[in-house]
Amino acid sequence: MINVTKTYLPDFDEYVSYLKQIWDNSQLTNNGPLAQQLEKGLKEYLGVEYLSFCGNGTIVLQMALKLLEPAGEIITTPFSYVATTNVILWENLKPVFVDIDPATYCINPNLIEASITENTRAILATHVYGNACDVEAIEKIAQKYNLVVIYDGAHAFGANYLGKSLLSYGDFATCSFHATKLFHTVEGGAIVTNTPERHEKMHLMRAFGHRGDDYFFMGVNGKNSEVHAAMGLCNLPMVPQLIQARKAVCDVYTELLDWSRLSAPQWADGLERNYSYYPLVFESEEKLLQVRDVLAQHEIVPRRYFYPSLNQLPFLKEAEACPVSEDISLRVVCLPLHAELPHEDARRIATLINQHL
Ligand SMILES: *Cc1c(COP(=O)(O)O)cnc(C)c1O
Repeated sequence: MINVTKTYLPDFDEYVSYLKQIWDNSQLTNNGPLAQQLEKGLKEYLGVEYLSFCGNGTIVLQMALKLLEPAGEIITTPFSYVATTNVILWENLKPVFVDIDPATYCINPNLIEASITENTRAILATHVYGNACDVEAIEKIAQKYNLVVIYDGAHAFGANYLGKSLLSYGDFATCSFHATKLFHTVEGGAIVTNTPERHEKMHLMRAFGHRGDDYFFMGVNGKNSEVHAAMGLCNLPMVPQLIQARKAVCDVYTELLDWSRLSAPQWADGLERNYSYYPLVFESEEKLLQVRDVLAQHEIVPRRYFYPSLNQLPFLKEAEACPVSEDISLRVVCLPLHAELPHEDARRIATLINQHL
């Protein structure tokens, strides 16, 4: 079976050598030496000053939202993974959905101002598929209305925009290191901030909000372990190679697919892609389902990612209509993509798709 993704696993003996270090130290968690070493490596790789390695890509969003006072509305995108909306609801904030740009599939900055009220606290937008949100336009709006900007950068690891990591934009940018992501620590995540004050808050918040006997504010368990950090230390040096290998697979798809009947997001100008996903948009949902069935017969499993549009989640009481996101969500799949996918498989997948358009 060819699945939408396959987790990269490092050399087994290398991982075991880190485990040996953990056994020797007998410190398994609580900001141990490997977690600190990974944080240092991540900061160097991303070129950012303030980063906290945390439990997953969801808790870091909750930690950023937790700082917002008083509670209120969060402008957000309907075109993302469900976690982006869940965290807003989980923190008892109100999501206000703003439709996406029909070219980039990231939140449409031209529609944001009309949705701002006196209760708006923040903008939570996703760098979807590692594409760059219009960070300049969003920053301008945020300054004008005094809003916090949080980027869900779960897809953005390894992508650069205008020569800097995409995760260096915004007041907070979060990342997921889940096993399905480009770079992973099995489960894991990180939050990048841009001031020492915010960093200190995140650092404390992930460890219950206290240092020894000094209690500062209500924190949570957002930490991660030495065992997870070890996986990250094995995988981090591989990232440039993984991105190159993924690019080569993407190039096969791009060259072979029949673009007269298919489309894809437009990557932002100034973006150096990370090739984390290969989104493909069909002419209709009907076509998508037909092609999906054909691929299934060949044991090829793409993923409807993202579907549904988050403003249509069944557990929302009410939500704004987002016609662009609703339309794209019905027609988009992500094709199988990972560093070790044989090019022959990518060619076969592209050919099968073209034959059934
Ligand atoms: C994966 C993902 C998350 C959640 O990350 P976890 O590490 O699984 O908690 C959040 N947002 C987006 C856009 C994601 O793709």
